[in-house]
Amino acid sequence: MTASEPNAALTPIVGTLHALQVPIPYPMKTVTVLLDRPEDGPVTMIDTALDTPEAQAAITAGLKALGLGWGDVERAIITHHHPDHYGLAGVVEERGGADVQMLDVEIGRGERYWHLWEEWLPGHLKHMRDHGLPAESLEGMGADNRRGRDRVQPAQHVTPLREGQTATLAGRDWEVLWLPGHADGHLGLWNAEDSLLIAGDAILPRISPNIGLYAYTRPDPLGDYLQTLGKLEALNPAQAVVGHHGPVMSGVQARARELRGHHHERLDFIKAEAGREPRSAYDLSLAMFNRDLNVSGRRFALAETLAHAEHLRLLGQLYRTWQEEEGRWIYHA
Ligand SMILES: [Zn+2]
Ligand SMILES: [Zn+2]
Repeated sequence: MTASEPNAALTPIVGTLHALQVPIPYPMKTVTVLLDRPEDGPVTMIDTALDTPEAQAAITAGLKALGLGWGDVERAIITHHHPDHYGLAGVVEERGGADVQMLDVEIGRGERYWHLWEEWLPGHLKHMRDHGLPAESLEGMGADNRRGRDRVQPAQHVTPLREGQTATLAGRDWEVLWLPGHADGHLGLWNAEDSLLIAGDAILPRISPNIGLYAYTRPDPLGDYLQTLGKLEALNPAQAVVGHHGPVMSGVQARARELRGHHHERLDFIKAEAGREPRSAYDLSLAMFNRDLNVSGRRFALAETLAHAEHLRLLGQLYRTWQEEEGRWIYHA
């Protein structure tokens, strides 16, 4: 098989590193999986896509185009725990004994989430209920979560990477970065010599990475993300390999500024809405995402609105009260 065949659309990135666009059943349509077959050093996969037959077939074709099979992958570095990036981690581990690696921060919450899924689900749903999700939506939300869980094969063992550590890839040294916000322990890999960043979903060209507050996340994901945008702006990479709508984007610094402006607008909007009429985060999310959304879309909208409301609360610009009869938190300006 050659790289010109449709299912093995490999984009050369740098040296022996290639990007593969793998299909996912989400609006973004594809996720970027990176494959490295270096002269010297471990055969590496960065991000693994979701466990679907289509994704497995695309990865098989990509590996084959490089003269490899699943069993040859010695290391899998995962940018963050979301199902479209982590889903096949357990499969890569099982087929070739690949060493699965993630940032230490991500192992404790995000990665653990998949292992403790059954135990954590009630807390996850209660958190959304406490923030105003209507009782009649809970069952659908639980079922939707289960569909996501079914496409994830967790790894048995994950090796922690730490911020500031060096990883070798494509015959080059890369610095491990911590880029929290979209996920608590989102990892980036930075190659200063080529001014190239492997960014995952920390920054995306066409959509704003979802910044959501869930039951198991750090308390202020938006605060984390605004700091990440500052880091990216200062780093000013010439190019970034991104999780969706890529594989490569330029103009990271300008995009980071644009995303900061976008979040500031949303903060202003929520503060004004809560000032006009005190409401739950769910009711605020209906005002902020005033359109038809499916059940996953509504969950993202609630989590994103909540991340903004809690950021404002931690700044002292909103406060919340517990409404006993309805059993939910109400935000006031
Ligand atoms: Zn993600
Ligand atoms: Zn993603």
